[in-house]
Amino acid sequence: MEQKIILTGIRPTGKLHLGHYFGAIQNWVKLQDEYNSHFEIADVQALTDNFDNPKKVRENVREIAIDLLSCGIDPNKSTLFIQSMIPEIAELTVYYSNLVTMARLYRNPTVKTEIGQKKAIFGNSGESVTYGFVGYPVSQAADITAFEGECVPVGEDQLPLIEQCREIVRKFNSIYGETLKEPVAVLSDNKRIKGLDGNEKMGKSLGNAIYLADTEDEIKNKVMSAVTDPKKIKKDDPANPKVCMVYYYHKLIKNDNINTVCSECKNGTRGCVACKKELITKMMEFLKPIQDKRKYYEQHLDEVDQILISGTNNARAKAKATMKKVRKSMQIDYYEE
Ligand code: ATP
Ligand code: MG
Repeated sequence: MEQKIILTGIRPTGKLHLGHYFGAIQNWVKLQDEYNSHFEIADVQALTDNFDNPKKVRENVREIAIDLLSCGIDPNKSTLFIQSMIPEIAELTVYYSNLVTMARLYRNPTVKTEIGQKKAIFGNSGESVTYGFVGYPVSQAADITAFEGECVPVGEDQLPLIEQCREIVRKFNSIYGETLKEPVAVLSDNKRIKGLDGNEKMGKSLGNAIYLADTEDEIKNKVMSAVTDPKKIKKDDPANPKVCMVYYYHKLIKNDNINTVCSECKNGTRGCVACKKELITKMMEFLKPIQDKRKYYEQHLDEVDQILISGTNNARAKAKATMKKVRKSMQIDYYEE
């Protein structure tokens, strides 16, 4: 039976953290056995709000590739590629841009929230927002459909973007004839991973991220300042693990000692400092295989580059085939065989 196609992506704006791992990548690693998976390093999209910092985007392309490979994305099962090296996506974006109104883009909840979060770039009321940023959902629709993506595994924040893509596909098919596939979003069980500071989202820009590549000292500093039950004042006060971020992370990394952690916390026989120290040890154990693989790839950068080159070549062949169909439907297939 032919495998269904997955297309999903990640922006090269920084290294990967535990929010990415548990919210998205863990699921991608599982899905690559059952699906024909395509993982895009979305540098064009990263440039929409980092256009003045090309160095940052460039450096993170390789970092993200190393992170993904270290987490278990397997180039023998999946296609890992760089967005800007597929000009067909840019071409498709131009054609799709006729099918979307400005009003609809401004109403997109993800775009609206992100414009609000980026006051430093786009001004207090978004007065300096660029055409490229408002339009990034159109380019994301091109990312997905250029590979005939059917399933898009993402975090919750991405749902309005997938809905916008589905609208574009329906409009295209109704005007130019049945050509494109309408994708569906696939959410993982962990829709949104909280930060150690208690924030609803672990995020790069929120300063609360534990990176997969963090050293033991960095993890120590972050875990030691994590938010615990504020009602627990003394070491042997009983506490409520449900409101404790340390407990939340013990659970997330699947500490095999979790029942003891929970009962000792509840009956006051476990101090927060000891509990945090245990989390640091378990977190380092959890990260070790990922960090070992990272070390390997850091010493074999040629291998990383080869994986990206051959993945991108594969991806480009697929996008070219889609564009052929699109041009034919749009009656702009001049002199094509
Ligand atoms: P940026 O701030 O540059 O947008 P980001 O941290 O949001 O970076 P993306 O590259 O936009 O990362 O997202 C990659 C994937 O990771 C998306 O599917 C997103 O939904 C998911 N993701 C990111 N942070 C979390 C989190 N804390 N919990 C769950 N999923 C997350
Ligand atoms: Mg994001």
